[in-house]
Amino acid sequence: MMGKVSKNNSGSIPDEEWKNKLTPEQYRVLRERGTEAPFTGKYYSSKEIGVYRCAACGQELFSSETKFDSGTGWPSFTDPMNLKNIELKEDDSLGMRRTEVLCKKCGSHLGHVFDDGPRDKGGKRYCINSCSLDFKGDKK
Ligand code: FE
Repeated sequence: MMGKVSKNNSGSIPDEEWKNKLTPEQYRVLRERGTEAPFTGKYYSSKEIGVYRCAACGQELFSSETKFDSGTGWPSFTDPMNLKNIELKEDDSLGMRRTEVLCKKCGSHLGHVFDDGPRDKGGKRYCINSCSLDFKGDKK
């Protein structure tokens, strides 16, 4: 990256760098725990084969193999590729008890996980913002 590299005492990436790296919408969702409007993201109806990575740091998060059409307007998955790549956190905001899903590597907000997913596939529904993801299709 060109220009000066900023540092802070905790060693984490400072806000200013996230703002340069991400679009305003991605910054709002990933770094400020926002939610994109349903049916507006680029991946909710995608059926392409490949891997969804963290849009902030590139960590592999979800495979198209576990993606399903939940009808909610957000990309939905029954499982992460590896539970070690995500962090789950209780979230009591907005007067609801929900479980927040974060990228384990960079701490960015991805979405929430609910217990109303397909029962024959474990019953989980990982409801993830499109703009938190970066899709790479399988090479033929
Ligand atoms: Fe990340």
